[in-house]
Amino acid sequence: MGAILKFMEIIFASCNRNKLIEAGKVLGPSFKITLPSDRGFTNDVPETHTTIPENAIEKAQFIWDMFHETCFADDTGLEVDCLNGEPGVYSARYAGEPKDPVKNVQKLLKELEGVPFARRTARFRCVVALIENGELTTFEGRCEGHIALEPQGELGFGYDPIFVPEGMEKTMAMLTLEEKNAISHRGKAMEQLSCHLLKKVQL
Ligand code: IMP
Repeated sequence: MGAILKFMEIIFASCNRNKLIEAGKVLGPSFKITLPSDRGFTNDVPETHTTIPENAIEKAQFIWDMFHETCFADDTGLEVDCLNGEPGVYSARYAGEPKDPVKNVQKLLKELEGVPFARRTARFRCVVALIENGELTTFEGRCEGHIALEPQGELGFGYDPIFVPEGMEKTMAMLTLEEKNAISHRGKAMEQLSCHLLKKVQL
């Protein structure tokens, strides 16, 4: 007898539709992912901590407390080595409030003015926190690379136009969704989440 596939409904504690598309592609058709906004919660999910794992857990816990249904959250930071790991956990608001991805990119490029490409090493770090039946599990994915000298590419979001993944000669914003997911921090963390959850939907 082959495996019988069931669908699992899962809430992604985010308001970022780009992340939803990336996550949905990795998780595939065995999962129906909804956002808090689909359930009537349209505010930002709080992220008040000073580390990436704590923020991911805080976001997942907030949505679990609200709905008591299986949910996950991700928190991502871009760590630039010659800036002592900045912007890191503060990546979303690097250029201040309100969150502005274009200003964040401009600020980072300004901070790195005069730094040669070889010394612009950086990594995206993504932690995914899953809560099911009140129980927490975390997964982590990283993607090493360099910060480009100038933005290039129209795809993706956030810092993608200035992040050149290791071994590539183009930015993440020049990769298709499939290409990005295959090497990205979120793709790697979501792949682990997918393996973990698939064990439960396959009878
Ligand atoms: P957060 O995980 O939504 O808090 O993201 C922190 C910051 O990193 C935001 O400015 C995002 O735009 C950016 N970011 C998150 N994931 C990615 C990504 O996959 N590529 C580029 N930037 C990202």
